[in-house]
Amino acid sequence: MKSLGNIRRDFAPWNQPGAKPYIQFKNVTKRFGDFTAVNNLSLSIYEREFFALLGASGCGKSTLLRMLAGFEEPTEGQILLDGQDLRGIPPYKRPVNMMFQSYALFPHMTVEQNIAFGLKQDGMSKSDIEKRVGEMLKLVKLGQFAKRKPHQLSGGQRQRVALARAVAKRPKVLLLDEPLGALDKKLREETQFELMDLQQTLGLTFVIVTHDQEEAMTMADRIAILDKGEVMQVATPAEVYEAPGSRFVADFVGNINMIEGKVAARNGASATIAGTGGLTIHTANAADTTVGADVAFAIRPEKIRVSSKKPEGADNLMEGEVYDIAYLGDMTIFHVKLGNGQVIKASSLNATRATEDPLSWDDRAWISFRQDAGVLLTR
Ligand code: ATP
Repeated sequence: MKSLGNIRRDFAPWNQPGAKPYIQFKNVTKRFGDFTAVNNLSLSIYEREFFALLGASGCGKSTLLRMLAGFEEPTEGQILLDGQDLRGIPPYKRPVNMMFQSYALFPHMTVEQNIAFGLKQDGMSKSDIEKRVGEMLKLVKLGQFAKRKPHQLSGGQRQRVALARAVAKRPKVLLLDEPLGALDKKLREETQFELMDLQQTLGLTFVIVTHDQEEAMTMADRIAILDKGEVMQVATPAEVYEAPGSRFVADFVGNINMIEGKVAARNGASATIAGTGGLTIHTANAADTTVGADVAFAIRPEKIRVSSKKPEGADNLMEGEVYDIAYLGDMTIFHVKLGNGQVIKASSLNATRATEDPLSWDDRAWISFRQDAGVLLTR
């Protein structure tokens, strides 16, 4: 059976008819004065899910997280956790903990004192605290740094202390607001896998806020894409990428070519699209459209082949010239300018060190793609 992307095969509660969501936002609106930061938003998150809120700056991601943590109350609507309405419950009484972007570590305390802080406040016994702190240090591999203060640690180590402190109290839900924002790219990527392992080991529900789509794609079971306080789509990373529900989502996640047009003819799930600039496109993914409908044909660059020779038997074939080339090492992105002036992006994987069909600027080039390579968007 074909599947979209690699999935945790045994974990997809959102597809199980009887499964009950663990966290529910029900028609939640949040206004600050006359500004609406979150607009009538509904969202369900399942127990043990790694859920990402993804969106541009100011779209309301942090506000959602803060309402779940109890630092803000919704203006309208309900937030339920395990069936309980959270309204009026103060942050410290919610089974939820938040890890902030700034980490907010206590500078005068050692690593172990930082981790122990919340446990002490909860009145846990000294021996239990010691045991728990020991477990946490092991979990985040910081045993040898237990006596250091935050300023004696690297950014990545500080991030792990904050994480250990946030999970030390064994919250049911961990909220992470841009948790890796302060780390450089390499460390960020490593830490993403550590976070995923930690979430699996502890069996917690994670809700993460990020504006970094690669981060959301790497870590999350599902992603909610937000825009101006509204949910645009909730789906697995592969669904968001391969089956975006709208032009907004297609354009927001990853690189894509979008050709506006009309459905000229349809036969079952196949259709011919009359695109702007006189382009004709044959697609096999037109089940939900009608003849005459305004659509956008969206296709990712890696699904387009670019070659100097005219390929035989291609479903879709267009001729143009190489307009720009970006060599990224692992792949090369070609911008091919078609006869009608439209520029199409096509990428090719550099699977070998030398290229068999080297294309250069201004070369004639053919782009081709299969009928099932793109999607049709009606919204
Ligand atoms: P970023 O990625 O930049 O953190 P975000 O998606 O997390 O953005 P929020 O912090 O949720 O965005 O803010 C959503 C909108 O609500 C923004 O336009 C912000 O200016 C506004 N906002 C947030 N908190 C308040 C507040 N206390 N008073 C007034 N406006 C606020």
